[in-house]
Amino acid sequence: MPNRPAPLPTPRLPMTPVLSWASVARGRGARVPSILDAGPARLVTSGRIAIALALREMGIGPGDVVLVPAWHSLSMIPPVLWRGATPLFYKLGMDAAVDLDDVAAKLDARVKAIMVTHYFGVPQDIARIRAFCDAHGLLLLEDCAHCFFGEHAGRPVGSFGDYAIGSSMKFFPIFEGGCLVSARHALKAPPLRSAGLGFEAKIALASLENSFAHGRLAPVKAMLWLPMKLKDLAWRTLKARRAGAGAATAALAPSSSDSSAEFEPAWLDKRSSWFSRTMLRLVSRPRIVAQRRRNYQALQRALGGLPGCRPLYPALPDGACPWLFPMLVDEPDRLAARLKDAAVPVVRFGQHQWPGVDAAVCPNSAALAHGVLAFPCHQDLLPHELASMIARIAQALQP
Ligand SMILES: *Cc1c(COP(=O)(O)O)cnc(C)c1O
Repeated sequence: MPNRPAPLPTPRLPMTPVLSWASVARGRGARVPSILDAGPARLVTSGRIAIALALREMGIGPGDVVLVPAWHSLSMIPPVLWRGATPLFYKLGMDAAVDLDDVAAKLDARVKAIMVTHYFGVPQDIARIRAFCDAHGLLLLEDCAHCFFGEHAGRPVGSFGDYAIGSSMKFFPIFEGGCLVSARHALKAPPLRSAGLGFEAKIALASLENSFAHGRLAPVKAMLWLPMKLKDLAWRTLKARRAGAGAATAALAPSSSDSSAEFEPAWLDKRSSWFSRTMLRLVSRPRIVAQRRRNYQALQRALGGLPGCRPLYPALPDGACPWLFPMLVDEPDRLAARLKDAAVPVVRFGQHQWPGVDAAVCPNSAALAHGVLAFPCHQDLLPHELASMIARIAQALQP
């Protein structure tokens, strides 16, 4: 049978960073700026917990209004409601830039703060937004969930907001982790507490198991075979006993680690795990930035000219460290279905908007929410995994 296309090799592609020896190899290259350089940090278990803490530090309460972009992660809203405040959604351009004219039109005495998201690691014109906030007495919460690394106008991301939040689990090979920083205000919140040994163990094991599942750290896997078996057994026994006693089993880890948008106030005063904090120190940051930039640019070169899609951003700005590679697609549902068949990991960021937020609120946000498909470009994609992903996406894009 001539001319039949060869079947594509099918490595299981890791959606998120996976721990490997390379992760902790000493990074070459200069120190890279990150949100952690913006000011003293509180390391918590998720970005949404950091949002809630930031709003509390700002004194946001019942009757206040918080401006939120009409294109958002659903996890950004419950912290606003937790404060008793009301979210009000502002418009974006088709390049996801904040529409300051719309923001200005929405200001009144109840509007106290604005959340600004640096989408996919590409900074907003945050110096201009800072000046706008100063001129209008508005508190600025810089959402660096997609933008852990990078700088703008010579200052690290996160240093423009009154407060800034990050989601370290989007950039490091860890299962939980977020941070709150402030370059402008002392943090008033009491010190964080440990969430307990069960949590510590669960987080470390989840990260290792994910690594093993993708064929990394094979010698460690071999060494840990027996302890892991014993752990599984112990876990099952514990669960059975707790179920038998009818006790309510508090979850060992926050739901924010399971790609849910839930908000759990029980984690507000909990410190990020020892494992995650250690990884923040050990994992090579220059490598994260260099590899992500390289993978993003490879995706852009290979896919940028194909029909039916175009990169959301014409170019990756100097110094930016991407979360994912976003493309605006003509027929997003059809492509998403094809990519699912081809086992290509895809994120449709903000696909589900908060109830009531639709094209009438912001046509551009609705178009972005529906039309943007984003692909992993993280530091732990191996060259053959990246090549396989590119080939599968290109094939799915064929008319
Ligand atoms: C993921 C995300 C958050 C919340 O971060 P978690 O660590 O998942 O709680 C906030 N804002 C944006 C834009 C996000 O994508």
